[in-house]
Order: sequence, then structure tokens, then C-alpha cells
Amino acid sequence: MKTDVQVVVIGGGIVGASVLYWLARLGWTDTLLLERRNLTSGSTWHAAGNTTYFGPYAEMTRLFAGSIRTYQQAEKESGQSIGFHQTGSLRVATTAREREQFHSFEANYQSLDIPYRVVDNDTIESLHPCINTKDLFGAAHTPTDGHVDPSSTTHALAKAARLLGASIELQCPVESLSQDGSTWLVHTNQGSIRTRHVVVAASFWTRELLLPLGLNTPLYATQHHELITDSVPELVSLAHEVPAYRDSYVSCSMRQEGNGFLLGVYETDPVFWALDGIPKDFREELFPPETDRLMPHLEKLMERVPAFGEAGIKTINNGPMCWTPDGLPLLGPVGDGYEGLWLASGFNVGIGTGGGSAEFLAQWMVNGKPHFDLPIVHADRFGNDMSRESALDSIRACYRQGYRLPEAI
Ligand SMILES: Cc1cc2nc3c(=O)[nH]c(=O)nc-3n(C[C@H](O)[C@H](O)[C@H](O)COP(=O)(O)OP(=O)(O)OC[C@H]3O[C@@H](n4cnc5c(N)ncnc54)[C@H](O)[C@@H]3O)c2cc1C
Repeated sequence: MKTDVQVVVIGGGIVGASVLYWLARLGWTDTLLLERRNLTSGSTWHAAGNTTYFGPYAEMTRLFAGSIRTYQQAEKESGQSIGFHQTGSLRVATTAREREQFHSFEANYQSLDIPYRVVDNDTIESLHPCINTKDLFGAAHTPTDGHVDPSSTTHALAKAARLLGASIELQCPVESLSQDGSTWLVHTNQGSIRTRHVVVAASFWTRELLLPLGLNTPLYATQHHELITDSVPELVSLAHEVPAYRDSYVSCSMRQEGNGFLLGVYETDPVFWALDGIPKDFREELFPPETDRLMPHLEKLMERVPAFGEAGIKTINNGPMCWTPDGLPLLGPVGDGYEGLWLASGFNVGIGTGGGSAEFLAQWMVNGKPHFDLPIVHADRFGNDMSRESALDSIRACYRQGYRLPEAI
């Protein structure tokens, strides 16, 4: 293993792999990614892979758009398929106000040259015949997004980064960090590495890793469910894959998976995981499903998509998901006294935003500033004093918000 490099990236999920890739694309190849187990071992391996363009702010849409672009580039350069299904997405308007909000985003998408339109109920039915449009006010349609296979995508990013000269070490947990003047020492189970820059892309492990440095990073994990159904006859008989569907009333997103549905739910009563520390031997694990918390959402979904009610449930995955108090990632330098320490952590939609966020961070590291301004994601925005209770309250509110847009928009 290398013992002296320009950059160490900690964490081999989709975010760490994207950072390694973008640094290499911008010419920084004296880099080493350290992963405690295997690539995708954290949340990435069990994610649904949805990569929407939809965001209430144009800048967030740039992160989403940059992600799809990044993954497609990595696919081309590595020869490793990312399993992109360009199904498009429908975000249904459940009130006239929501439809108005959707209209207000049209200029954003136009400025970014991303196809977007607000469609009526007839168009919803022609695109997604399983949706009952009775109480709907149309939908926002982004026809060129879809979903990727998160594991294949992470491997494509890692392979493309390696082809450019970056290195990766698996089964190599970082145990601690220390400073020696302007150099960082990264201590692992296989010895220490000297480096100028450290990027921490360790998701919900980041908080514990940085606590001994005096950093109180407000990152906590919730449980998050995903359900996959058996085959749905209505889907089998269709000639096209239906667009992903998101609904603020149900608080769910749902896309086609094979001939069935794959559904993700933001419950009203989120449950935290491992508040007193991530178990040391945590592997690629899932939690037992908590179906009672899902039922109110599933009942609403059956009203909206009757075919869902007819389908058997094949699998329920309940996995850990990382959150910050405002639901946005932590990107950028940690701040004074920690020069060379960067964060790329706190992603709850890391497949959707990982690639674009990595470009944002890598531009900042290599060129001294990101290629566009996005203070709402800066790593130092919460300061160092946020109490656990206050962070958890804010995360609960974010989680419950689900697919509802902020009222102020
Ligand atoms: C059920 C479910 C469905 C989801 N569906 C979607 C979706 O459709 N779209 C979407 O955008 N997001 C989705 N997500 C969220 C998504 O999975 C995460 O946002 C994303 O995987 C985060 O990527 P990451 O690289 O930040 O973290 P992770 O994938 O968790 O990677 C962090 C890595 O760091 C490593 N690590 C930690 N500590 C150390 C250390 N000390 N030394 C070395 N390595 C270390 C870990 O082993 C791990 O591999 C879903 C989540 C869940 C739970």
C-alpha cells in the first residue's frame, strides 16, 4: 500500500468512488481510496438507484444532472455498464398549489437545458397507465432521468479512476486521523499514510471518525424501507417501462423493477439507528422490516395505484440512510485549523447527487473554488455546537417532509 500520497479518500460508496474519479479527471491521480470492507458496503449496495433531475432549486438540479453525466462518462471510460434505465419521472401534483410550484421551475430547467414540462392527467395516464389520476392536478415530467444500478455504477467509477492512475485499497479501515503540521496522518489497520488532503466520504461513520479531532459533525442514520413486488400483469402487457412516480400525498417514490414495482417510503415516524455508535462489526446488513409504520402509506398508494394492491410483496429491504439536519450533504473544507480536511458526507440521495457533488468538491480542491456557487451544501454550515436533540428534531422534520415541497417556493 502507498504510504505517501496527495489525497486520501475515506469510503468506497458511490460518493467516495465519484470523488476519486473526479479528482483523477481533473489531473490529481496521486490518490488513494481506503475502504473498510468492499466497494458499496455501506448504503450504496441496497439503494434503489433513482437518479432524478427534479429539485426545487436550479443549483440542486445541477448536482443531479452532473451525477447522471458523471456516471455515463465513467461507463464509457471503464467499459463497465451502469445499468441506466432512462424511463423519465412523473412527480404528481396533488393540489393546485403544487401544480403552480411545478410551473415555477420551468425557467430553471430551461436555463440548464434539461427537458421538463408540466403535463395533464391524460398524459400521466398515457405514460403510466397504472396511476389513478382522479384527484390529481397533472404532474411534473422529466423525461430523460431514470435509475442506475448503484453497485455497477460505483464499480464503473472505481475502474475509470484506476485507469486514470488512482489507487484503491479494500479491507482497510481508517482507525483515526492526526495532523503533523500541514500534513495529515491517516492511521489504518495496515499502517499510516501521509497525505496533504483527506476527503471523508464515510457517510454515517464520518461523525465518529471526526469526534476525536474535536469535530461535532451532525450526521445520523435513519432506517429506510424499500419494497419490491411480484410481477404486475398491467406492467407485463405494456410495451414500455413506466416512468418513476413520486407522490407527496403517499410520501413515496415508485419505479418499475423488472415486471414489478420498487417502492421507497418516507414514513411519518422515522426511526434512528445506532445513535450511540455504529456497531464495529457492521457488515452489508439490513434491519428487520417494520411494516406497521409502512401500512398508512401503502393504503394510500393502493388508492392511487390499484395494481400495487393486487401484487404480492416479494422483498422488503430496511437499510441505513445518512441524514444531516437539513437533508443536504456536507461538501467542502471543514474549516480553520483543519486545512486539507474535506467532507463529502451526509448523503440521503447519494445516488442521485453523488456524481455531481463529487465534481463540485473536486473542482474546489483542484482549482481553489467550485465551478458554481452552492453555499447551502457547505460543510461548515452547522458550526460545531449543534446538540444531538436539535439535530435529530431537524432530521425528523426533513424525513417527514418526504416529497412535499417547501411552502416558501
Ligand atoms: C432502502 C434505501 C433505498 C435508497 N434508494 C436511493 C435511491 O433510489 N436514490 C438515491 O439517490 N439514494 C438512495 N438511497 C440512499 C443512498 O443509498 C445513499 O445516499 C448513498 O448510498 C450514500 O453513498 P455514500 O458513498 O455517501 O455512503 P455509503 O454507500 O454508505 O459508503 C460509505 C463507505 O465508507 C466506508 N467507511 C466508513 N468508515 C470507514 C473507515 N473508517 N475507513 C474506511 N472506510 C470506511 C463504508 O464501509 C462504506 O462503504 C437509498 C437508501 C436506502 C436505505
